[in-house]
Amino acid sequence: GLGKRSRLIEAHRVAEEFYAAALVDRAEARQGRDYLRERGFNGVIAKQFGIGFAPRGGEDLTRHLREKGFTEDEMVTGGLSGRGSRGLYDRFRGRLVWPIRDVTGDTVGFGARRIFDDDRIAAKYLNTSETPIYKKSQVLYGLDLAKKAISGERRAVVVEGYTDVMAAHLSGVEGAVATCGTAFGVDHIKILRRIMRDEVDGAPARVIFTFDGDVPGQKAAMKAFGEDQRWASQSFVAVAPDGMDPCDLRLARGDEAVKALVDDAVPMFEFAVRTTMKRFDLDTAEGRVQAMRAVAPIINSIRDSSLRPEYIRTVSGMLGVEVEQVRNEVQRAGRISA
Ligand code: ATP
Ligand code: MN
Ligand code: MN
Ligand code: MN
Repeated sequence: GLGKRSRLIEAHRVAEEFYAAALVDRAEARQGRDYLRERGFNGVIAKQFGIGFAPRGGEDLTRHLREKGFTEDEMVTGGLSGRGSRGLYDRFRGRLVWPIRDVTGDTVGFGARRIFDDDRIAAKYLNTSETPIYKKSQVLYGLDLAKKAISGERRAVVVEGYTDVMAAHLSGVEGAVATCGTAFGVDHIKILRRIMRDEVDGAPARVIFTFDGDVPGQKAAMKAFGEDQRWASQSFVAVAPDGMDPCDLRLARGDEAVKALVDDAVPMFEFAVRTTMKRFDLDTAEGRVQAMRAVAPIINSIRDSSLRPEYIRTVSGMLGVEVEQVRNEVQRAGRISA
């Protein structure tokens, strides 16, 4: 019921406060503070995003919540504590924690990063698992802060990580959000598209996917392409050079480089076509024909029929294959999928 939801939200508010104080006060949090500084984040931005530190002890938060009157059931159901043979223990231990907030700004979960070297075998990130107030397919990290820019600029920037959202903000890209340890899915798209539709100034709404310039990032971009087909002509992809993510890019090259990365994003279709073509040896006739066959379904999937001939011409130019031949191949792909 409603009462239960507000209790869980309250528990998260108390936990967030506890973690934030631990980051500032505790000697053992020094590595966490160092991590933030090395990533280019000062205390002001850390406060704005509510970053904290989960102590290593193992039951500090659980004890604190108990003192504040929360029941064991609330702590466990909310994902803040786990239940072991010797009672409750803290779900997050020895980690930096990022509050995950819903669109209204209520904290509904946490993302937690490993920071101690002796924890190397543990997962780099742990996130709150599904709870009554946290459904990761429905949450976009940073949306509470980004929604105004997203609707005002009619532009949403999707990045991979918590630190990338913060770096984007500091660089002046305020419409940045991230998924929380899950793939960008169709519900995430709907949330963003809904926010952008509320504006009536007529400019086309754009979603820019700014994934890491590593292999998982490329895969994520291609997956997002699949999910966002319906709006693909308004979707763009930007991949940072040299395997960097937006946070790395800001550190290496500054705020302007992050802005430029986003401003220079290429249309999703172009990205998908280029990425697919990279798998083939375009120096040989066989390679060019294979590449044409591989990209034909992508072009065929373009729903905007005025855009399709454009891409057929582009691909024809890229491969040095007759326009007519590419068009035939695209039509063939259409018959196969129909
Ligand atoms: P850092 O720069 O500190 O290494 P990052 O955000 O760049 O952090 P990535 O490895 O690029 O980390 O991962 C991107 C995002 O994917 C993370 O912010 C996190 O949300 C999610 N993620 C990464 N590893 C895991 C994991 N093991 N479990 C759940 N989510 C993860
Ligand atoms: Mn990565
Ligand atoms: Mn990073
Ligand atoms: Mn990254």
